[in-house]
Amino acid sequence: MNAAVTTELKLIGHWIGGQPIQGGSGRRGPVYNPATGEQTGEVDFATPEEVDRAVAVAREAYREWRRWSLSKRQDLFFRIYNLFDERREDLATLLTAEHGKVFSDALGEVQRGLEVIEYVCGIPELLKGDYSEQAATGIDVYSIRQPLGVVAGITPFNFPAMVPMWMWAPALACGNTFVLKPSEKDPSASILTAELLKEAGVPDGVFNVVQGDKVAVDAILEHPGIAAISFVGSTPIARYVYETGTKNGKRVQALGGAKNHMIVLPDADIEMAADAAVSAGYGSAGERCMAVSVLVAVGDVADPLVEAIKQRLPKVKVGDGFDPSSEMGPLVTREHRDKVASYLESGPAQGATLVADGRETAPEGNGFFLGVSLLDHVTPEMDCYRDEIFGPVLSVVRVKTYEEALRLVNENPYGNGVALFTRDGGVARQFQFDVEVGMVGINVPIPVPVAYYSFGGWKQSLFGDRHIYGPEGIDFYTRTKAVTSRWPDPATSTVDLGFPQTR
Ligand code: NAD
Repeated sequence: MNAAVTTELKLIGHWIGGQPIQGGSGRRGPVYNPATGEQTGEVDFATPEEVDRAVAVAREAYREWRRWSLSKRQDLFFRIYNLFDERREDLATLLTAEHGKVFSDALGEVQRGLEVIEYVCGIPELLKGDYSEQAATGIDVYSIRQPLGVVAGITPFNFPAMVPMWMWAPALACGNTFVLKPSEKDPSASILTAELLKEAGVPDGVFNVVQGDKVAVDAILEHPGIAAISFVGSTPIARYVYETGTKNGKRVQALGGAKNHMIVLPDADIEMAADAAVSAGYGSAGERCMAVSVLVAVGDVADPLVEAIKQRLPKVKVGDGFDPSSEMGPLVTREHRDKVASYLESGPAQGATLVADGRETAPEGNGFFLGVSLLDHVTPEMDCYRDEIFGPVLSVVRVKTYEEALRLVNENPYGNGVALFTRDGGVARQFQFDVEVGMVGINVPIPVPVAYYSFGGWKQSLFGDRHIYGPEGIDFYTRTKAVTSRWPDPATSTVDLGFPQTR
């Protein structure tokens, strides 16, 4: 399959009230094909007035949408699932074209998003409340879950279809209406999502898209008509969104950046660990918030592990994501590629050993490519350890003991994902008890929870108290109402119950 050759720039606008809307701000951002370096499109940047319009339409749609019965909403979600399932290749094509990830990986992204839609097809079960009969004499107490109103999602460039699905699927299933502000770097998937939702039968105004940058985000954060905000992106922006959103009285969950460690103990299966490190470190060019960034080699495992990884690196084929033989695509922008490559300068300057230099193996041309890169003898003071690199650079930190490895992870300001490779079940169990990270893999390098658990890190990887999708996603998008009820004593009723009533 080949990316379309672009002769004129594609214009990507907003989606408000069930219609595509061209932006009126006159401000736009470029969209690239990262594999060629060519600009392929332009995306509108919304004004606060355009955000306001989207919120007004979503508020109007909410009046009807929240009244839909559970079974009607469930039927609709089955249709949504089937349509996205049928059109998964179309969505994946947009992801490869604008993000650059290889097509098989793009299909994988859509699949993981579909699993969240599948989960919320069970919305009648998920919204069940509690009931306590005879809490006091003649009094029953029960709780019901109700939607919040208009909720917004602000999403990052690295999963332009899946991360929005983490948000809109549970939000809509719970009866909210939605305003999405996607990443300006790869905005087209959001518009196809809107078209598919309309085609499946989602009423106009229930799902809206405003494209844009900080101006649109700030308008969302300050808008009195928005009840809750889900954010996924880098830690500084996550903190800003959390602080500003909550100051404006909103419920906010803001997932931030990551620095994921993979600890390899001396008893681990080296071949298995090396395979895992390569796929988890370089998959999607390292642009995953659950990518392994630091390999912590404990004791004498370091030399054979680094050797096993080094052997595998020349086999990782880097190229255009539409070429079926490519295993790793380009980075998202030229600036990001250059930033990632800068760690191949600063690392060795600060004392690390450059085992594999991706600048030398990047494909020719103007694409935003960087080959797979490996830094050994990295220490916690170095920039390549401290910063979230978010690219195809793996750092190896050598430690002597398990305790030292654990301390390293627990002292890291991020706490998104972590993996432990060992054959010892007792040690693995102790690790899951001790480690201060939200998602833990035991011999699993990328422990993204399945859709019926929730996704989220600890520490600076999450601001807020609810993880995303799964049961915590349902909690986030609903508020409970507790009802205390008393009916007149049946003894006073005109209905003859046929036997004496006692209370
Ligand atoms: P980003 O923080 O730059 O952007 C995220 C969103 O915030 C985008 O929609 C963007 O338009 C907006 N934004 C950017 N700058 C802003 C500003 N100054 N004010 C207001 N809004 C702003 O993140 P990114 O580069 O698109 O994505 C990569 C980051 O996302 C990485 O740090 C990665 O770890 C993180 N991420 C985290 C998770 C997770 O689940 N924890 C998942 C995916 C990505």
